Amino acid sequence: MAWGRSRCVAKYGKLSLVTDAHERSQQIFEASRALMPGGVNSPVRAYQAVGGEPPVIAYGRGPRLTDVDGNEYIDYVLSWGPLILGHAHPGVVEILQRAAERGTSFGAPTELEAEMARLVVQAVPSIEMVRFVNSGTEATMSALRLARGHTGRDLILKFEGGYHGHADGLLARAGSGVATLGLPDSPGVPKAFAEQTLLAPYNDLAAVRAAFTGHPEEIACVIVEPVAANMGVVPPAEGFLEGLREITREHGALLVFDEVITGFRLGSGGAQALFGVEPDLTCLGKVIGGGLPVGAYGGSRAIMERMAPTGDVYQAGTLSGNPMAMAAGIGTLGILGLMTPPGQPANDGSYRKLDDVTKRLADQLAVVARRAEVDVQINRVGSMFTVFFTDEPVRDYAGAKRANTERFARFHRAMLKRGVYLPPSQFEAWMVSLAHTEADVEATVAAAAEALNEVTA
Ligand SMILES: *Cc1c(COP(=O)(O)O)cnc(C)c1O
Repeated sequence: MAWGRSRCVAKYGKLSLVTDAHERSQQIFEASRALMPGGVNSPVRAYQAVGGEPPVIAYGRGPRLTDVDGNEYIDYVLSWGPLILGHAHPGVVEILQRAAERGTSFGAPTELEAEMARLVVQAVPSIEMVRFVNSGTEATMSALRLARGHTGRDLILKFEGGYHGHADGLLARAGSGVATLGLPDSPGVPKAFAEQTLLAPYNDLAAVRAAFTGHPEEIACVIVEPVAANMGVVPPAEGFLEGLREITREHGALLVFDEVITGFRLGSGGAQALFGVEPDLTCLGKVIGGGLPVGAYGGSRAIMERMAPTGDVYQAGTLSGNPMAMAAGIGTLGILGLMTPPGQPANDGSYRKLDDVTKRLADQLAVVARRAEVDVQINRVGSMFTVFFTDEPVRDYAGAKRANTERFARFHRAMLKRGVYLPPSQFEAWMVSLAHTEADVEATVAAAAEALNEVTA
């Protein structure tokens, strides 16, 4: 089953526009379905919302993926966000090889984690101290525990369509796979936990104020994606983040920015630098792991020192700060141009380039959609965007859910057939990497021009 033995040899470098052979993918996926629920280890990978079966991936190089049947795709999923440099960047591969030779885990302090912590603290305005964990889920879960420990309050407030990982209490009206599969709030979450979560519509400050008025001195924190990306991309309305900062401060609650997607993707300082609003706690993940499993949470020294061993709020991890993961993160941030000596500003050239390429792609997709007379709304912030199949602006979860998911599913299938690998859900963000070129943009737009005709057919 090693990919080297399948037919996918030496096709990298040109885009195969027709992907018709799928026997090997089908065989492997059928076997997987008997062994793992749905054949996958994370629900949206199963293509339930778009129909058909997922290609089984053999390898990735730059902006391209190749499946086990040798079909090649331009990838806009990028492992759901982490791979900002594209697949298997030689610099990241090299640093990983060197790290592996020195041992993959020690459960003891390393210089790599000190270096990674320095990079994060230097880049993210509100972070003075950081703790590394193994996933975004762990980061948000731990940040909430800290917020509760720090304030002595139990309730949290999250937004409809916001996704913060799969911890109990965060699945209430969650985005990402929960939205894609149209699941009710998950069974298995004790009622008593679910009751600790309050909900408000995204971009609705009046609802947030009402929640605080209704629960005086009970809300520990507001957790928010500063740019929502798990109901599809929905930018914060003018004044929304500032309003959250003001309300939480006024009521003695913490503001938690879940920057697991936006951190190091929208800029070195994440969404908080872009919008100029500083949260009390920040959750990171995805890009900071460079494709390995990493999460992190951080904030002011005073709050972070509540964590054990300096404080009494407990959280631990056998593989936390893992040398391989730290190495991949350091490699990724270094190649992005963010590894500058202490006190010097990061070079944001990579982000300008990402923004340029993504803007061209999104603008041209809007043009071909207009030509095909298919109503779409394209929400874009930096190198992530969503094409919503609707004629109304999308400002919140209710708006996102009004999109025509049937049309999206048809579009997804038509694009996949033409060698473009999109997130298999209307409610996810398309990601662009530094490896995507003008030629990739052109090939994608050409594929979309054809695919859009199949959407309404
Ligand atoms: C992906 C994501 C998470 C969860 O991260 P995992 O590494 O999948 O556990 C949390 N918050 C946001 C905003 C995310 O996009």
